[in-house]
Amino acid sequence: MAKQDTIENHDRKIRELTQTTSGYPTSDGQNVQLIRYIGAQNINLIDPFLLFDVFQSDKPSDYLGGFPDHPHRGFETVTYLLAGRMRHKDNASHEGVIEAGGVQWMTAGRGIVHSEMPEQKNGLLRGFQLWINLPGSKKMVKPSYQEFSAAYIPSERVSDGGSIKVISGCTSNGTRGPINNPYTEPIFLDIHLGPAEQPFEQNIPDDHNSFLYVIHGTLLTGMSRSPVGKEELGILGNGNHVYVSGGKEGARFLLITGKRLNEPVARSGPFVMNTREELYEAFQDYRNGNFGGRNP
Ligand code: MN
Repeated sequence: MAKQDTIENHDRKIRELTQTTSGYPTSDGQNVQLIRYIGAQNINLIDPFLLFDVFQSDKPSDYLGGFPDHPHRGFETVTYLLAGRMRHKDNASHEGVIEAGGVQWMTAGRGIVHSEMPEQKNGLLRGFQLWINLPGSKKMVKPSYQEFSAAYIPSERVSDGGSIKVISGCTSNGTRGPINNPYTEPIFLDIHLGPAEQPFEQNIPDDHNSFLYVIHGTLLTGMSRSPVGKEELGILGNGNHVYVSGGKEGARFLLITGKRLNEPVARSGPFVMNTREELYEAFQDYRNGNFGGRNP
């Protein structure tokens, strides 16, 4: 064995599966049906991830109500759509439509009030919303958006016919996503693996937490080849390397990682701060209209 291989193998600590969940069916906004995987009873937090929701329905009654005006403070929301269209509009006159394959990365910071409404009357709406915590020192930054349609999300080819869409972070082969995030340096990849059971590998910093969500197929994870099934979320343990492969029909999954903040979390609905006092302040500011555009 070459000397370099020895060093690489010695340094490589593969992340093994520690837990899986099928999520918790619930509704939010105006009766939008969704499955909550993080931020529900059994998995409250995967630091820095506060919430992970999957919405998926072709029944308009499951989504038409949308998410009318509501506030956020102290964290970021990421909306990634696989099918359908959502219009968002905030109280600082920022407005846009997220379409299939597109992402909206919103740093709510010190606060915005916005609505997120389906821009369709029928058909399939399918997508994800992820909440990422901000460190205490950045919770009150100015709100900002990073929005990219499908055409601006780079795709790296995988040898067995699969591909990796890189939304945030950088693949081991150097494909970098368009999102810039200095707070928790998240990696957010949408990975298709072909049917050849070719492994997918990705370096992940030691100080990140990481999870997988399987969109279709079955994923075999780590050296133990522990399975994560369709529409399951799998939490990975410590290490610096992700090693997974798809089953015989291939697989599509999201790999999401972010730097642990290791800070106290005080949360109530749409506000996520470090202390009860800061939460109280957030409620007061919201009630007084001291959020976002009107009173910057
Ligand atoms: Mn929102």
